[in-house]
Amino acid sequence: MKLRKCPNCKKYTLKEICPKCTGKTLDAHYKFIKIKDAPKSDNRFFK
Ligand SMILES: [Zn+2]
Repeated sequence: MKLRKCPNCKKYTLKEICPKCTGKTLDAHYKFIKIKDAPKSDNRFFK
């Protein structure tokens, strides 16, 4: 499964199209790199 994020709603989803604004979501994978600095927020990014 791939985690994606809507840049408009700031919502995480697994869909390529945001169910809220029907905009295209972005691959959220790059976020994992930044999370390294704040490991405690790991779980929050997945919900
Ligand atoms: Zn959206």
